[in-house]
Amino acid sequence: MNELCWNCGTAAPSRFCANCKALQPPAHDFFAFFDMPLVLAIDVKDLEKRFYALSRQLHPDLFSRKPAREQEYALEASAVLNDAYRTLKDPVARALYVLKQEGFDIAEQGTKDVPPELLEEVFDLNMAIEELHDGDEDARSQLASARLRFERMRDEIDSAMQTSFAAWDVAHDRVKLDEIRSQLNRRKYITNLIARTDEANVSN
Ligand SMILES: [Zn+2]
Repeated sequence: MNELCWNCGTAAPSRFCANCKALQPPAHDFFAFFDMPLVLAIDVKDLEKRFYALSRQLHPDLFSRKPAREQEYALEASAVLNDAYRTLKDPVARALYVLKQEGFDIAEQGTKDVPPELLEEVFDLNMAIEELHDGDEDARSQLASARLRFERMRDEIDSAMQTSFAAWDVAHDRVKLDEIRSQLNRRKYITNLIARTDEANVSN
């Protein structure tokens, strides 16, 4: 936010200037945009309410008779609104956003390095895919049960992440963010395995 209203010069305007009511340039930080504190364990219902309220306030039709500069801010704000909502409502996207804001490198991790505890699962999965490819229909049930196991692992990570989120919110401790980054990597690896079981079923 600017320190002075672009239109009338009043100090410290919020989203709309208290004096002249002009829309101000939007905050680009997603949490600031929604007037929310920086927390990972957000209340998604509350976020949704804020989203719909702001969608109404920022609707481009409301600005059609306003100065060009204000119309631009309205468009810019609508774009930030949609990005921010899409990102913050999804726990994985939200965590990646916070990691990036906090200076963590969130570049895609290679999926060639199998997490050691998954070596056996991945070996069995590769075998089943190969067998299915060779026409062994029994492999389908193996793939189906592997998929269920992967889904369960993903659900376990999701609940462990919720715990880490709540822990980070208390003290904003970087060690917790490191833990969350590992959870995200493991989750990504497992969702890739789920996708592989689906592809094998479709392509064979
Ligand atoms: Zn003003």
